[in-house]
Amino acid sequence: MSFIADRLNRIKPSPSSMATQRARALKAAGHDVVGLTAGEPDFDTPPNVVEAVVRAMAASKTKYTDIGGTPELKAAICDKFLRENQLTYSTNEVIVGTGGKQVIFNALMATVQKGVEVIVPAPFYVSYPDIVLLAGGTPVPVMCPPDKGFKLQPEDLERAITPRTRWLVLNAPNNPSGAVYSRQELRALAEVLLRHPHVWVLSDDIYEHVLFDGREFCTMAQVAPELKERTLTVNGVSKAYAMTGWRIGYCGAPAELIKAITKLQSQSTSNPSSIGQAAALEALTGPQGFIAERTKIFQDRRDAVVAQLNAIPGITCHSPEGAFYVFPSCAGVLGKKAPDGRVIKTDEDFVLYLLDAEKLAGVHGAAYGCAPFFRFSFATSMAVLDEGCARLKRACERLT
Ligand code: PLP
Repeated sequence: MSFIADRLNRIKPSPSSMATQRARALKAAGHDVVGLTAGEPDFDTPPNVVEAVVRAMAASKTKYTDIGGTPELKAAICDKFLRENQLTYSTNEVIVGTGGKQVIFNALMATVQKGVEVIVPAPFYVSYPDIVLLAGGTPVPVMCPPDKGFKLQPEDLERAITPRTRWLVLNAPNNPSGAVYSRQELRALAEVLLRHPHVWVLSDDIYEHVLFDGREFCTMAQVAPELKERTLTVNGVSKAYAMTGWRIGYCGAPAELIKAITKLQSQSTSNPSSIGQAAALEALTGPQGFIAERTKIFQDRRDAVVAQLNAIPGITCHSPEGAFYVFPSCAGVLGKKAPDGRVIKTDEDFVLYLLDAEKLAGVHGAAYGCAPFFRFSFATSMAVLDEGCARLKRACERLT
């Protein structure tokens, strides 16, 4: 009998983290790697946040806090939900976790078990299905047609719902496709959900502020207030405030679910880092102007990268509406042969070929439940992105 518990055999390591580690290892070994795997802004954490943390440390805010977060941060989160999303949550309806990922993990662990299904529109953030599997449940991927902008269609949602469905996981702006739902599109999904009162919605809004072309952000509980009592609205400071390393995420949900998440958190991590919370408090309550400036930079990079990708034979790239990833199709290179004789049969073959031949690191689309695509992050400088596109072009031109 293995020393490692069976439940670990149900999951795999996060493919995007593995790809990032592979690129880091190659770099450490002296290779000139262009790494486009990581999902984190290349900007610094804003200086006012860093200064607030220094003050918090000097004031000994370095001890355990309440399990679910400090009262100040919880109040700031309630204010944020009201100010930006017109959602009214009281402090017993929010909780702070160690990143949005822990919030999602805890919520699914608290509610999913054997016999429970979770609808995960594909392409999806790599962790959703594996967390569901770890909890003993069954992820139900539903393909979102690329020709419909990678968005879940109401009729596909309707077909996927069974009496065993507990959650629909929605993520927009989407990692990896960048898809964003309009108010009407969300409302159409809500109409389906209203016919199935046993299904809850996990709305992962972590890329809320990385939204292009002046689009309006909306979230399910806001568009369909009737669903608020069965919606978990997840957010965090990682992406909007360039604070991935601080590990602070949060959510709003009915008090009963928050209580269950708190119970789980009390027996695992306890409170999220106290100084991380001080940082998040300043991020949410301090100046917000830089967010729009950074989003504009992401948008300019998107435009430049999408144009370069679409000029490469064999690659076609949809323009993302938000987040900081491109998710191009590599269908046009499948079946071709690399100079070393290998045949590119899948998107994973292609991504490995790029790494071997050009030291260019991306993540294959199958990891996100959608092939044959691949994901590049454009949360890096334009110089690196230009070099990445040049390497991609060279690699594609060498295929015969
Ligand atoms: N949700 C999505 C869609 C993500 O892409 C990520 C990170 O890449 C997370 C959640 C988790 O973010 P964090 O744990 O840093 O808050």
